Amino acid sequence: GEGLPRPEQTRIIVVANQKGGVGKTTTTVNIAASLALHGSRVLVIDLDPQGNASTALGIDHHAEVPSIYDVLVDSKPLSEVVQPVVDVEGLFCAPATIDLAGAEIELVSLVARESRLQRAIQAYEQPLDYILIDCPPSLGLLTVNALVAGQEVLIPIQCEYYALEGLGQLLRNVDLVRGHLNPTLHVSTILLTMYDGRTRLASQVAEEVRNHFGDEVLRTSIPRSVRISEAPSYGQTVLTYDPGSSGALSYFEAAREIALKGVGVSYDALHAHIGA
Ligand code: ADP
Ligand code: MG
Repeated sequence: GEGLPRPEQTRIIVVANQKGGVGKTTTTVNIAASLALHGSRVLVIDLDPQGNASTALGIDHHAEVPSIYDVLVDSKPLSEVVQPVVDVEGLFCAPATIDLAGAEIELVSLVARESRLQRAIQAYEQPLDYILIDCPPSLGLLTVNALVAGQEVLIPIQCEYYALEGLGQLLRNVDLVRGHLNPTLHVSTILLTMYDGRTRLASQVAEEVRNHFGDEVLRTSIPRSVRISEAPSYGQTVLTYDPGSSGALSYFEAAREIALKGVGVSYDALHAHIGA
């Protein structure tokens, strides 16, 4: 397909929101697949013990598979757990197994407990354009490891009541990590998910989010789509499951915005220029 600009250095994007069910995993795998299908090399790190991102990418993650747990707790090199995603060239996944549920506790007593993922990524030598980290729905040590390892935070927000509630806590954690452990960390991207433009509520929430976050909010929002929710049960992203669907097209547009932002191109300016 048509190429997307690739960043000069690896961009590490943490997909976080401590609320469950807002579209973190769906966003991680579909943005990652969009970027890979358009010429980038992308690694998804599954940091949720549920392993939903691994499942959605068709990656084996039964209990014996080498996983991100071994990387975090036993200092296994990341290269020994990364698997290629079969139907998308350039896309890779470090899977999560159920062991990871114990890591939150086991990490507490380990040295450098907040920076174990950062160290593992720094030691990983394969060239990558993007690393996307799918966080669990909590702000514990797993999410802290992601925030210490990353440069950018992508927050998916579901357009429903209380959408912004609890975000304050995430933003404070981002500030804390930036202040103490990782000065480059910032919220770069907000993505509205499961958006239904026909409802007044969704458009009100969208407006509130845009007022609050301004330019960080992507122009593209992701519609509610059955195809998006079906794809994981086939071990596929919607980009390969149904490439022409509205869900696939909107995730591709969102990925394009992210790629363009990374090279300093304004999406609006580009669209005005090509008259889209
Ligand atoms: P999280 O990782 O934040 O818990 P998920 O990405 O797993 O959220 O999404 C929660 C549920 O909503 C999943 O069943 C997923 O398939 C579904 N879902 C996510 N995005 C959409 C969408 N745009 N349209 C329809 N269903 C969606
Ligand atoms: Mg998830």
